[in-house]
Parts: sequence; C-alpha cells; structure tokens
Amino acid sequence: MQVSFLGLGAIGAPMASHLAKRGGLTVWNRTSERAAEFVANHEARAATTPREAASGAEVVITCLPTSQEVESLLEGPEGLKRGLTSGALLIDCTSGDPGTSRRIASGLRSRGVEFVDAPVSGGVSGAEAGTLTVMVGGNTEAFTRARPILSAFGKRIDHLGPVGAGHAMKAVNNALLAVNLLALGEGLSALVKAGVSARAAVEVLNASSGRSFVSETLVPERVLTGSWPQTFRLALLDKDVAIAAAFLKEAGVEGPLLDLAGRLMAGARAELGETADYVETIRLIERRAGVEIRG
Ligand code: NDP
Repeated sequence: MQVSFLGLGAIGAPMASHLAKRGGLTVWNRTSERAAEFVANHEARAATTPREAASGAEVVITCLPTSQEVESLLEGPEGLKRGLTSGALLIDCTSGDPGTSRRIASGLRSRGVEFVDAPVSGGVSGAEAGTLTVMVGGNTEAFTRARPILSAFGKRIDHLGPVGAGHAMKAVNNALLAVNLLALGEGLSALVKAGVSARAAVEVLNASSGRSFVSETLVPERVLTGSWPQTFRLALLDKDVAIAAAFLKEAGVEGPLLDLAGRLMAGARAELGETADYVETIRLIERRAGVEIRG
C-alpha cells in the first residue's frame, strides 16, 4: 500500500519509522534536510512537495503542530489537495481542533477523499516503541480503513465518534496533563520548602490518591533527576489546553479550572519561549518559589 507521511517532527519521525518497515512509504517535511535524513536511515523516498507526496497515495498522514498548518498544507498549487485522488484517505495525527477538522473533512468529501482525525498519546518514547494510544474521529468505514495503518505505531486505537471526536478527546486529555503539571509543581514546591524530602513526597503521592502520570513518570524521571529533555514543546501543550477550553464552551460546560490552566500555560509559554519543553513549567514554578525539587 502506498502511504505518505508529512511532518517528521519530534513525534512524527518515530511514528513514520514504523510505517517505513512495511514498505511503500513516501515522506515530506517542510525542512527538507529532515526528510533527507529520514530516507538515509529508513526504507522510504522523499517527495519535494505535499502535492507530490499525495500523488498516487492511498493513505496520507499528517502530523503537524496545529490544524492551521494542516489546512494550509492542503491549499495552493503544490498543496495536498492537488495531489489527492478520489478514494484516498487523509489521516490527521496532529493534535488539532475539532472545528477546523470538520471543515477540512467536508472540503475533502466533495472530492471523494475521506478524513479521520487520529491524534496520539504516549510521547516520543511511546512512538519509538509503537505503543501509542490513538483517538480517532470519523465515519465507521474510514475508521476501519485507518485502523491497520494506525496499528503500525498504535497499541490502543479507539473510534470515539464523528470527525473532531478524536481531537476533542486528545485536548481534554492534555488539559488534564497540564492541570496535573501545574498542581504538582505547586504542591511539591511547598512541601520541599517546608522541609519534606522531594523523593519521599513523590513516593508517598505515588502510593496515594493524588498520583498521576506526572507524579509517577515525569517527576521521577526528569524533575527529581534535574534532567530536562526536550520531547514535547510547551507551546503545543498550551495550544491543547486552549482547544479543550474552546471545546467545553462549545459543549455548553463551564470550565473555570481549564480557563485558569490555559492562562497559566500561556504565561509559561510567553516566559520560557517556543522551544521549551512542557515539563519546564515545573522549573518555572520552582524558580518563583525559590526552591528545587530534587532528590
Ligand atoms: P514538532 O514541533 O517537533 O514538529 C512539527 C512538525 O511540523 C515538523 O515536521 C515541522 O517541520 C512541521 N511544521 C511546522 N510548521 C509547519 C508548516 N507551517 N508547514 C509545514 N510543516 C510544518 O512537533 P511534534 O512532532 O512534537 O508534534 C506534532 C503534533 O503531535 C502536534 O500537534 C503535537 O501536539 C502532537 N503530539 C506531540 C507529542 C510529543 O511528545 N512530541 C505527543 C503527542 C502529540 P520543520 O521540520 O520544517 O520544522
């Protein structure tokens, strides 16, 4: 099967590497050096434009920062739309927004192209291991077609509803991640300042009801050790919380907690910049509190 993958970023590249093992893979990346590096190390060919990547492909996968980049990649003389042929399937693995995806899907449907949103969770390590959780929105037939492709890098693959449902699910998940990051950063800073050992505090939390992915994995691996790898940009998490807050509004649910988390993440992004990693939010809280959570 001819599959094309566009967006070889931090998570896109390891996802695409699993597809390369199946053969018939074409890749495209805005910065062409990244695509050249990918084809030098994997069984794949590089396209020079999105249009060329889509030509002859049965399935096209996008993994870009936001739905805005996906929408712009579709347009223009060298855009995806010019290359996509009737019967093709576009799988968008971007953590995007439901409204833009519904608009993209309806524009493609009139050309005989199906669309599913299929954002992922599990981080770069999950992508490398091929154990991502994939949250899919789209019609049943398109989901059935997408599933075997997604299984190259996904372990749990759920069909959550029509187009946009996957993006809504992912945004809510990441909003909870942001709330946990902020709350744990604040709580641990206070405990350490009061003289509690950081490691003991984390171990007690992880044997109690306040535990989370942040306390069980991120804090022990990165904060306690003082290593701050760059795996997921804070700017992208900020975008996800804003999508979740807009989704709550659209659903008619009051969301004061997510609104506040959104403001705090936007402030952290403004202070730390576009390339900072999301866990550095805790570093910012530490700095303000005048404490270091290590141990
Ligand atoms: P990165 O910032 O590492 O990579 C972004 C990719 O998009 C790069 O290939 C970049 O190309 C490309 N890109 C950026 N702007 C444009 C544009 N205007 N036109 C064309 N291509 C563009 O992001 P990630 O790989 O980390 O994230 C991708 C998506 O996956 C995001 O929606 C993110 O929220 C989501 N995600 C990320 C996770 C992670 O752990 N990193 C986990 C789960 C989801 P170039 O090389 O030229 O910059």
